[in-house]
Formats: sequence, structure tokens, C-alpha cells
Amino acid sequence: MGGSLRMVILGRQGSGKGTQSTRIAEAFGCIHVSTGDVLRAAVAEGTELGKVAAEIMESGGLVGDDIMNGIVADRLAKDDIVEHGILLDGYPRTADQADALERILAELGQSLTLAVNLDVAVAEVRARMLSRGREDDTPDAIDRRLALYEEQTAPLLDWFAQHGLLETVEGLGTETEVFDRLHETILDRLD
Ligand code: AMP
Repeated sequence: MGGSLRMVILGRQGSGKGTQSTRIAEAFGCIHVSTGDVLRAAVAEGTELGKVAAEIMESGGLVGDDIMNGIVADRLAKDDIVEHGILLDGYPRTADQADALERILAELGQSLTLAVNLDVAVAEVRARMLSRGREDDTPDAIDRRLALYEEQTAPLLDWFAQHGLLETVEGLGTETEVFDRLHETILDRLD
């Protein structure tokens, strides 16, 4: 299925990734997979994964690469994604996860279409997260996640740039303005 979209959305927590991902998935007919949502569901259900993830998520840390790579490998092999394509939100978050994603897709005979960096400055995302009042959004956890993002995830932008996959989209503006920018960027890549 060469026509399916297979993309990654990167951006600091609070950049609007989740909201925009829902709209992108709807517009392009691909499946939105948020690893944060997968983990939150596991915590809510009290599964083994949920038990491991709960404490880590609460402290703002990262769940281990092996666990995350296993979750994504299983999900990407499912028929719906093979057929309709994927928008990954919250993964990869480390260099090891990026390598794993490339390997997982290659094994399925697929490759990424693009990676979008939804760019919003630290001060702005911090304010947004404090105001959304999610349970794991304590000031300490927010700061830890933002620091981890700079440390581990921001270097991924270089990884994607080196692979010729990176597009940066300005994340300030109304939801629709940002979506229109994303839409155009993706369409350009699909041409
Ligand atoms: P998110 O909803 O993407 O902000 O994710 C919420 C939390 O889930 C993060 O702070 C991490 O603790 C954990 N998490 C989500 N995705 C990953 C991932 N790809 N690797 C490691 N931890 C993750």
C-alpha cells in the first residue's frame, strides 16, 4: 500500500500534538496511535504493563525502550494499520526507539513518509500544560518531561533530518491554522 500515510509527529508535550493528530488521522484515513494513550489505558485497566508504567508516568520518566518497542511492533503488524497507514504520536522518544521503528517498518516492507516537528516554545507549552489540569501534570512532572524531551527526544529531530524525513511546522496559532499548515506539509510529501 504505497499510498498510505506513515508518519511520526514530534513536539514537546503540550504542543497540541494530540488534537492535531486526531484531525490528521481523520483527514488522511490513517490510524492514530498515541503511546501515552496506550499506557494510560493499561494503567486504567490495571494490566501488568499498567502496573509497570503507572509509577514511571507519574514521575514524568520514560517507560523502557524494550517495552515500548514491543507495543509498537505488535500494533504496526495489525491489518488495519498495514492497510490504512499510521500516525505515531509520542513514539519514538529516544534514539533506540527510532532505530527500532525503522527496523519494524522494514520488516513489514514499509517505510516512513515523514516526521513532523510541531514547534512550540518551552514557556508556551509549560503554561498550556499547567492549565489543562491532567492528573499526571504536576509542575515537577511537567518540568521533568520537558527536560527529558530536550535531552532525549530533541536529538531525534537530527535523526529524522539526516534521514531526509523531517518537516518543521509552526505550532502557534488557532487549532485550524495549525491544522491547515500540517495538512499542506503532508500533502506536499505525499505527491
Ligand atoms: P504522552 O501522552 O505522550 O505525553 O505520554 C505520557 C507518558 O507516557 C510519558 O510521560 C511517558 O512516561 C510515557 N510514554 C509515552 N510514550 C512513551 C514512549 N514512546 N517511550 C517511553 N515512555 C512513553
